[in-house]
Amino acid sequence: MKRISLLFLTTVSLSAFAQEKKDPTLTEVWQPEPRIVTPGTISSDPPSDAIVLFNGKDLSKWKSKNGGEAGWQLGENAMTVVAKKGDIETKQAFGDCQLHIEWRTPKEVVGSSQGRGNSGIFFMGHYELQVLDNYNNRTYSNGQAGSIYKQYMPLVNACRPPGEWQTYDVIFTAPRFNEKDSTLKSPAYITVLHNGVLVQNHTAIWGSTTYIGIAQYELHRDKEPLVLQDHNNPVSYRNIWIREL
Ligand code: MG
Repeated sequence: MKRISLLFLTTVSLSAFAQEKKDPTLTEVWQPEPRIVTPGTISSDPPSDAIVLFNGKDLSKWKSKNGGEAGWQLGENAMTVVAKKGDIETKQAFGDCQLHIEWRTPKEVVGSSQGRGNSGIFFMGHYELQVLDNYNNRTYSNGQAGSIYKQYMPLVNACRPPGEWQTYDVIFTAPRFNEKDSTLKSPAYITVLHNGVLVQNHTAIWGSTTYIGIAQYELHRDKEPLVLQDHNNPVSYRNIWIREL
C-alpha cells in the first residue's frame, strides 16, 4: 500500500515537473491588470556625453546577432524589423547605462495579445524590456509593454495608440557575479519611464529572460551588447542614445 502511494506521488510530481518544462502559460500573470494612464508629450535629444546608437541614417553601430550586417529596413529616419532577419545587437558592449529609445508599433493593427507589434530590448542580451502594442490589446500583465518579460508587470499601462512614436527612458544596473565561484553577487536593476511615466521602479531582475519556466542568472561578461528583438512584427525604432554609467 505504502509502495503504491509512493509510486503514485512520484508519478504525479514527475508529470507536474515535466509539464512545467513545456507549458509557457505557467509563468503568465493576468491579474491585476495595470491601469491605463494617458501620457503627455515629450521629446529627448541626446545630451552631450551620450553615444548615439541610431540617428535615423544608418545601422553602422549595429550588426545581426547571427553574424553579418543588420538586415533591418532603413527609412523615414527609422529602422524597422524585417521578419526573419533576426535580432540585431550593438557592436559596442555596455554594462550600467542610461538608455533613451523610441519605438513605434504598426499603424495597421494585425494580430492580438503577444502577436501584435511585438519586439523587445534585451539589456546585455539577457534581460528583456518588452515592446508590444498594448493599446486596447490585453495580454498577460507580466508580458505587456513596459514589463520585464515574464517577471514584472508595468506599474501602469502608458501606451500610445499604434502608429505613434513612444519612448522608453531606462536606467539599468548590470548584475555582478562573484569572481571566485561565478555565483550572483547582486542582481540587475532596472528603472523604466514609458512615455515619461514610471513603469518600473528600481526593479530587481530575476535572471535571464525565458519564455518557459522561471528565469535564472547565467554568468556573462561585465559588458554585453544591447539587443533588439525580431518577433516577426514590423516594429520601428529611432533616436537611440545611451550613456555609460
Ligand atoms: Mg518581445
